[in-house]
This record gives sequence, structure tokens and C-alpha cells, in this order.
Amino acid sequence: MSLKQLPRRVTVLSGGVGGARFLQGVLRLRERSGSATEVTVVANTGDDIWIHGLKVCPDLDTVMYTLGDGIDPERGWGRTGETWHAKEELAAYGVEPTWFGLGDRDIATHLVRTQMLDAGYPLSAVTEALCRRWLSPVLGDGLRLLPMTDDRTETHIVITDPDGGERRAVHFQEYWIRHRAEVPAHEVVVIGLPDAKPAPGVLEALLETDLVLLPPSNPVVSIAPILDVPGIRDAVRTTSAPVVGVSGIVGGDHVRGMARQLLGVRGVEVSAAGVGLHYGARKADGVLDGWLVDTVDADALDPLHSAGIAAAAVPLMMTDHDATADMVQAALELVLP
Ligand code: GDP
Ligand code: CA
Repeated sequence: MSLKQLPRRVTVLSGGVGGARFLQGVLRLRERSGSATEVTVVANTGDDIWIHGLKVCPDLDTVMYTLGDGIDPERGWGRTGETWHAKEELAAYGVEPTWFGLGDRDIATHLVRTQMLDAGYPLSAVTEALCRRWLSPVLGDGLRLLPMTDDRTETHIVITDPDGGERRAVHFQEYWIRHRAEVPAHEVVVIGLPDAKPAPGVLEALLETDLVLLPPSNPVVSIAPILDVPGIRDAVRTTSAPVVGVSGIVGGDHVRGMARQLLGVRGVEVSAAGVGLHYGARKADGVLDGWLVDTVDADALDPLHSAGIAAAAVPLMMTDHDATADMVQAALELVLP
């Protein structure tokens, strides 16, 4: 049996580390097959935050640095060869917040971005400019990185404050980095979403494509904010391209991060089947035609099939680019004609 080929146009919705590693598999598969696939990435901007007067876009930067070969491979985020002098100097001044560390090299990216935004450029144009340094030399025109929206969106989490026990809303970064997702979370609210518009090119990338891929990115704080930008979910639901996703929940827990905690907040069962059914079948108001689960979660296949979602159980650990490329190949086999 011959393997299915990556089609000419592929669009990927992405968070940060999970999305970026998945994209490395997409690119490896493209390399293997020698195809000329154009990849468009629509990245979450709900994680964006203003820190020390700088606009930081963690998911955009993680994708850009990872694919541009500038990422710190151990941490999975931030620049390779990073130093932290500016952070130390800011701490010596007693400037808050101290829990969000900006590395010296990374700061250059945020300075360029902030200056361009101040000069009136939309985030999508700024991202394109930053990617000219990072992606063009490595990937040519073969990959485009788009923010989901040019409008300001910020994910906030309602937590129980560990000092005092009051409920209050904090930025997602404060919940995740300062509190390590270890405080009780009650609600996830993405500020700015109802009025946000998809960034230029996003709807076209979903409607005029041959395949839509959902990486194992966090369903609540990476994929949901993208789908919830008015117009994007409809585009995913109505595109003529098949839509296939990969579970980030393996064996009843996330592989890394805090998806378990936040799926709980949304009342979604923390399992590969639970997340697939939460996304739902396209033929029943959902967004999926296909859903991959890990081999340890083969019991998820029956309920997924019953819900009208094509599903298969394959190894889903992104241990290296080839293993991840195999995952992407399995996704193609599931939904391409
Ligand atoms: P973030 O923005 O940096 O948190 O990254 P994403 O939202 O793109 O991806 C985070 C999700 O990827 C987490 O919920 C993880 O469970 C999932 N993940 C990370 N590594 C792997 C892996 O090797 N295999 C699978 N199946 N999921 C993974
Ligand atoms: Ca993120």
C-alpha cells in the first residue's frame, strides 16, 4: 500500500511548544516526500502579555524560534545561548513582575515588535518582518506564520489566590509561570475575543487549503482561543478540506503543561476520547473529521467512531522529528481520500 502524500496546501492551528514540535514533524514529512507543500500556521495570541513595556507573544515566538533553529532545545522555549542580565538588573531595581523572565537575546525580538506596533504596524505585519530573519533563510517561502488576530486578546484564569483565599482573575502567564498551575482554577476567559477579527489571510488559509491539522496543543488555552475568534470556527467547519487532530492527552494526562487542570475547568473529561468528543465531529456541529489517539488509548476508538469521527491509535510521543513525521503521516492516512 502506498503512503498518502502531503497535499499542496496545509494549514495548522498552533499553540507554543506542542504546536512547534508537531510542525517539525510536518516539515520532516515534507522533506521525506520531497513535496512542495505550502504550510500556513495560525498561532494562538491569547498568551500574549505586556511585560516591562514590551509586547511578548510566547506562542508566535516559540513557533518562530523552533522552526528557525533558534530555540533552546532543553527548555523548549526562549533562545538558545540565552543570558539573563537584564532580568537580574530589573530584579535589582525591585521591578515587578519578577516571575516572568525575559532573556537578553529574546528582548531584542520584543523591542523590534513593540517599536513596530508603536509605529502602527499590525501584529501580522510585525510577525512577517520577524520571520524574515528566522524562517526565510531556513524554509524559504514554504512556511507562513500568522497570528490568529491582530486585535489584543489575553487569556485570564480565575484562581483562588493562595494569599488570602479570594477569587481573582490573573493573566494566564501568571497562573502558569508564577503559580505553576498549582492553585485552584475556576474559569478561563479570553479578553478581547468577542470583538477580535481574524488576522489578514487566516480565513483564506482555512478555506483555500487541502488539509487542516490540529496539533496536540492545549485544547483550552491554545486551540480554543483560535477557534473562538469570530469567523474561524465557521471556516474550520465549512472548509472543503479535511480536518484532523492529534490528542495531547495520553494515558489520561497531558504530556507536559497544564491541560489536565484547564480541561477540568471546562468540564471536559481528561482523556484522549474526552478531548476528541469535545472538539466534536464536523457532521455534528464540531470541527473534526479525524482524531489520532496514542496506542495506550485504543479504548477511545469506539466512542469516537460512534460520534462520527474517524480515529486511529498510533504512537503519539514527539520524541524526535521522524517519530513526529510518522504521526503526521498517520493523520494523512486517516482523512485524505
Ligand atoms: P504551549 O503553548 O507551549 O503550552 O504548547 P501547546 O499548547 O502547543 O502544546 C501543549 C500541549 O502539547 C500539552 O497539552 C501537551 O500535553 C501536548 N504535548 C506536548 N508534547 C507532546 C507529545 O510528545 N505528544 C503528545 N501527544 N502531546 C504532547
Ligand atoms: Ca502557549
